[in-house]
Amino acid sequence: MMEKVLQTFESFPVQKFLDGKSAWTGQVLKVDLSSGEMRVDRQGEDFYRRYLGGRGVILYYLLNETPPGVDALAAENLLIFAPGLLTGTVLPGSGRHAVGGKSPLTGALASGEAGGFWGAELKRAGYDAIVISGKAQTPVYLWIRDGKVEIRDASHLWGKLTADAQDIIRAELGDKNIRTALIGPAGENLVRFASVMHDVNRAAGRSGLGAVMGSKNLKAVAVRGSMNVGLANKEVLDETLKWILSGYKTMMGWAIKYGTPGSVRYNHDSGGTAINNYRDSALEGIEQLEAKSYFPKFVTARDTCYRCPVRCKTVVNYRGEGANIEGKYGGPEYETFGALGPLCRINDPVAVAKANELCAAYGLDTISSGGTVAFTMECAEKGLLHGFDFVPEFGNGASLIESITRIARREGIGDWMAEGSARMAQKIGKNAIEMLAVAKGQELPLHDPRMKNATALGYALSPTGADHMHNLLDNFANFPDSDVTNRLKEMGIDAPLPLFGLSDEKIKAYMYEVAVKHVFDSAVICQFYPYEYRHLCAALSAAGGWEVSIQEVHQIGRRIAIMARQYLLREGFTVQDDTLSARAFYRLKDGPIAGRGLTIQELKQGVQRYFELMGWDDRGVPPPNIS
Ligand code: SF4
Repeated sequence: MMEKVLQTFESFPVQKFLDGKSAWTGQVLKVDLSSGEMRVDRQGEDFYRRYLGGRGVILYYLLNETPPGVDALAAENLLIFAPGLLTGTVLPGSGRHAVGGKSPLTGALASGEAGGFWGAELKRAGYDAIVISGKAQTPVYLWIRDGKVEIRDASHLWGKLTADAQDIIRAELGDKNIRTALIGPAGENLVRFASVMHDVNRAAGRSGLGAVMGSKNLKAVAVRGSMNVGLANKEVLDETLKWILSGYKTMMGWAIKYGTPGSVRYNHDSGGTAINNYRDSALEGIEQLEAKSYFPKFVTARDTCYRCPVRCKTVVNYRGEGANIEGKYGGPEYETFGALGPLCRINDPVAVAKANELCAAYGLDTISSGGTVAFTMECAEKGLLHGFDFVPEFGNGASLIESITRIARREGIGDWMAEGSARMAQKIGKNAIEMLAVAKGQELPLHDPRMKNATALGYALSPTGADHMHNLLDNFANFPDSDVTNRLKEMGIDAPLPLFGLSDEKIKAYMYEVAVKHVFDSAVICQFYPYEYRHLCAALSAAGGWEVSIQEVHQIGRRIAIMARQYLLREGFTVQDDTLSARAFYRLKDGPIAGRGLTIQELKQGVQRYFELMGWDDRGVPPPNIS
């Protein structure tokens, strides 16, 4: 068939970028899918110094260009793809970018980051970000190559699994190295926790950005670029580059060996992984999910991101009893193991890896998928679901796999689950609400808030609903000589901090670390690299050509935290929403976290102390002027 080009646009970045002397192009591509109009916002140095890119740029456009209270699935919501100041530079771990908009799951901010190569490719194609508004009349995709943009017909791609759609796009554009951001059937069917997949196996997973993309009738954004992302002053980075290249094998040995799946056993044994929808302290057969037994049977290769020698990603190829699993969809990370395994009381690695593959193929967030399936399993166990031809059961891997397919297709109970556990609980009633493990309607990641109390505070305060990335994990602040501990020491905190509890010192540590994480997610670089302040300051200084101090890092991080809070308040959230649902307060009777966890009152006090430290009032309202 003839592939139709519906609109074209062409723009070229500023000369400095083409000459490799700048880390930014100065161009934000604006695409209105309702009218087909495309244009460029030209941004200057002050914009990049204030917001860096990533989450900072997402918040800038959401606050300035969306109406308050807009429906997340309406044409007026924006879908924003934003690499950062450091994306695509020579810095290892600089392959990341952010995706954002208003979340259809929570009604709050959606801001997720993905690794791989797509973000660097977009910068190399001449754009620092894409801001997409409107809704196409029929399915379309964007094709961006070195400044040139086409809106193309995607009718033939609608309904396809992510890898099939990517294969067709690469074939019809005649380039197997094209990088894709795309949705699967889950995004098309407006599943509220659908993800945006990049090159099929890297997800901007959380908060339903895939559904925002589906609501715009946008199947994919394909990119290819040949320009070089420069640095204003590369010499400033030399010491940091030497530190990474000579030390990464030691500093990141854990990532080289097993990647995040290597922490499955530690998290289980220490009480960090929720089991059986937060009701058990151990999973029988956990050793089958443990890296040393799982890797030899399932992991056939390792994968990496742009300019990263670490290669922490796994590739799972499996042909055997129970399932065939295709390597092109990657392999499960720790969060996925936890959500699709112990949380659902499943110890079968084939079921977990197959469910992970299906989440990538359909385009679903694995954390919210696992959280919602576990919640549904408990509803079924307690006899709260009636009239369905299928309901999932704890410990049953086949029923997990069936659930993922039904969610993506919105079939039977899958149509309820596709709304997320919080909406489902509202439908079922009080008994179900008591089983919920969410913050602001988003399912909790697999860092149990009863063990990690600073993380609990972070879940409650997060502008996106529960998230572990812009957060402080207590165990990292408890390891002697971790990057977190060393950064905290520089802020005058007597680290390492005790593992349990929410002391005043820990709340301060949370405040500092969240600011730094906002900088990581705006710049946008991999959080697995153990950057200390001097490395972060050097990287930002080299990219921008201005001198960035620790104080400026915190000023930027606080600015982004304030913008995120302002967005949350603007969208109708109040201090009453800065909390966790019932299951986070359920007490275990045995195991490593028996009887542990914050009370609601302790959490409230922590929230108020954070407001105080930030200079916000007791409703969490920041002063009107942001410096
Ligand atoms: S450490 Fe892992 S996640 Fe980070 S950039 Fe490297 S491969 Fe990607």
